Amino acid sequence: GEKILEIENLHVKYKTDESDIYAVNGLNLCLNKGETLGLVGETGAGKTTAALSILKLLPKKIGFITEGSVKLGDIDIINATDADMRLIRGDMVSMIFQDPMTSLNPILRIGEQIAEVLQIHKKDMSKQQIEERVDEILNLVGISKDRKNDYPHQFSGGMKQRVIIAIGLACEPDLLLADEPTTALDVTIQAQVLEMMQELKDKLNTSMILITHDLGVVAQICDRVAIMYAGQIIEIGNIEDIFEGEHHHPYTIGLFGSIPNMNEESKRLKPIAGMMPDPSELPVGCSFKERCASCMEICKAENPEEAYLDTHMIKCHLFDRKNESKTMS
Ligand code: SF4
Repeated sequence: GEKILEIENLHVKYKTDESDIYAVNGLNLCLNKGETLGLVGETGAGKTTAALSILKLLPKKIGFITEGSVKLGDIDIINATDADMRLIRGDMVSMIFQDPMTSLNPILRIGEQIAEVLQIHKKDMSKQQIEERVDEILNLVGISKDRKNDYPHQFSGGMKQRVIIAIGLACEPDLLLADEPTTALDVTIQAQVLEMMQELKDKLNTSMILITHDLGVVAQICDRVAIMYAGQIIEIGNIEDIFEGEHHHPYTIGLFGSIPNMNEESKRLKPIAGMMPDPSELPVGCSFKERCASCMEICKAENPEEAYLDTHMIKCHLFDRKNESKTMS
């Protein structure tokens, strides 16, 4: 398929007063048009940093992309200027966050907030056309156009999140980044919002990266799943590879609670004994070695390479063809 996003060997560092934090350490990721990817992993794995890098919204003077390339369609994000990025954000790529309270402007009517994005990016649209587009997008997310003059506080949590999604999708971006978009909502509303996102994705053919802790959510709407650990993707595959495949990275097995199952109801990630490696030091060998029951000598010295079996990638020496155990061959 047509590639919408290509990230190669991305490294991101945060400079703090005490030390450097290596948040993303060699991330590779490709996304096709119309595809939804679930990005899973413990807090601190680098998921949000990866998303902010695509938007070039890393905190100024603190967060830096130190290596690698990010391409959005034909656009080289790394070399794009601030002015370029202002045009790209909201138009080609937009991001929705988990807390609707902080992402909506409390003193602007919701119709105005949607119109604002269109005014920035669709300069050739007339006032009339913008007005029509606002009605259309509200309809798409299941909000009556009669409510466009209401303020955010007049909406419930689930409805506010719909407004956020409407703003994110107003310009029909090629890529939508959603960081825990339904976490703040109760379970029933969560399901409704997810269902709506799924429908929108089908209708607009938007690609989506969904950052989540909820495997139920992943099973419900994702085509592919990437598992992130210590700033790298350590396993990626189609939904079937991840939920029904025979082989998994030891971290995935721990995180999913031994046997992942697509048919189980909303399933939270399991806590795993031990901690992620100190992010202020670059790991030597496999970053999971301290917590891994299968750790071998080679794991302490060498970072495993990405081993592909068709659509399924596992970055672990157990599946490394050069290694004797040859589990995957
Ligand atoms: Fe465990 Fe070694 Fe695989 Fe890392 S490379 S997950 S330490 S077996």
